[in-house]
Amino acid sequence: MTPYELIIKKREGLELDRSELEFIVNGFTDGSIPDYQMSAFLMAGFLRGFSADETANLTSVYMNSGTLIDLSSLPGHKLDKHSTGGVGDTVSLMLAPLVATYGITVPMISGRGLGHTGGTLDKLESIPGFRTDLSIPEFISQLERIGVAIIGQTAELVPADGKIYALRDVTGTVDTQPLIVASIMSKKLAEGINGLVLDVKVGSGAFMQDMESATSLAKALVDVGESNNCTTRAYITNMDQPLGRYVGNALEMIETIKFLRGDHRDPDMLKLTLTLGAEMLLIADAANDFGSAYRTLEELLENGRAYEKLQQMVEAQGGNVLYCINHTLLEEAPFVIPVKAKEEGFIARIATRALGIAAVELGAGRKSIQDKIKHEVGFEILKKLGDPVKPGDEIVLVHAASEAEGLKAVEDVQACYTIQEKPFEPPAIIQRYVDKEGVREWPL
Ligand code: URA
Ligand code: CA
Repeated sequence: MTPYELIIKKREGLELDRSELEFIVNGFTDGSIPDYQMSAFLMAGFLRGFSADETANLTSVYMNSGTLIDLSSLPGHKLDKHSTGGVGDTVSLMLAPLVATYGITVPMISGRGLGHTGGTLDKLESIPGFRTDLSIPEFISQLERIGVAIIGQTAELVPADGKIYALRDVTGTVDTQPLIVASIMSKKLAEGINGLVLDVKVGSGAFMQDMESATSLAKALVDVGESNNCTTRAYITNMDQPLGRYVGNALEMIETIKFLRGDHRDPDMLKLTLTLGAEMLLIADAANDFGSAYRTLEELLENGRAYEKLQQMVEAQGGNVLYCINHTLLEEAPFVIPVKAKEEGFIARIATRALGIAAVELGAGRKSIQDKIKHEVGFEILKKLGDPVKPGDEIVLVHAASEAEGLKAVEDVQACYTIQEKPFEPPAIIQRYVDKEGVREWPL
């Protein structure tokens, strides 16, 4: 077997067996197959596609490239949630502590920003000292003590995905279903979980922009999870606008703290967090029906226990917990410049991918692997879809490190917003539900 032969085989649209996929993935992971051959292989796969068998094999080969975490020593259910990637999507940061408060163990391996989307790890690192690189024994011991930990993929954990993810990010091979499925599910199945709730995004800020491809992705993710003895259910949710009220790392941490403390809760963010959490309670057999699971979590949020759990997690992972108690300690951008509406009407469209890219341009994400994030920059979203505006109303506040960057972002953001004369009904946040039985419209 040579990499050359396998590249040609995929280029011709032929199916690769498990040993061939093992050869190329493991060869690239251990450094014996160079970037240029793996790039050619990924692009051939992007254009020709991978079959369902190839996708299942890729997932398993990635997963077995590192250590599999064994959580069988911990009692009860071990459940996680994962999103396919969005803008202003802070749900994981609220949901993980909330569900852990109920007594379910939540081992979460999260990502960094990818393309125009934000990453949970980058957000957490806006708290000084916060460590996302716990060793596996540290991870397990923290789960035992407080029931929740959020870490990143490492050299020990699914290293094949770590290397391939970084290569895909810069070779135009991210937004294809088989590679997304293998990437997400290998990380989740390596965590030692027995259940998973997925948030599959659809819309202008998602990798999958139309309902058909989002549904197909959700079905493929559920299939791979279920065939690996992991109860897997997916919600397809709208990403035609930023989910919450903030885009940017420290800003999204502020949103998380305000949310858990009860100072401010965006209605879509609240509904989605409680819905995904309720589904986790149902998988854990912790509630009879969706409504009672939802209300249980609502109470845990109200009585402040989820906020305490976030603080315990930050402290356990080396972060300065004072930043969770007083979020004004988080670094603030020196320039805050408003974007103003130019006409009267209703917000009818937000080009959300472009908005995410504008945030990356400001420094909220990376343009190359070695870029350092500016945690303090980003956007405060004052107007969302359907909101009425008059000329001069502030629609977004740009938080920038310099005036020039801020003014550039004001122009970019202005171009992302479309205002129309007619009232506009915003899309429902939750659109479809997918489990092993199939696809259903939401509400069920
Ligand atoms: N999230 C992942 O972890 N991998 C992808 O390929 C896309 C989103
Ligand atoms: Ca609204």
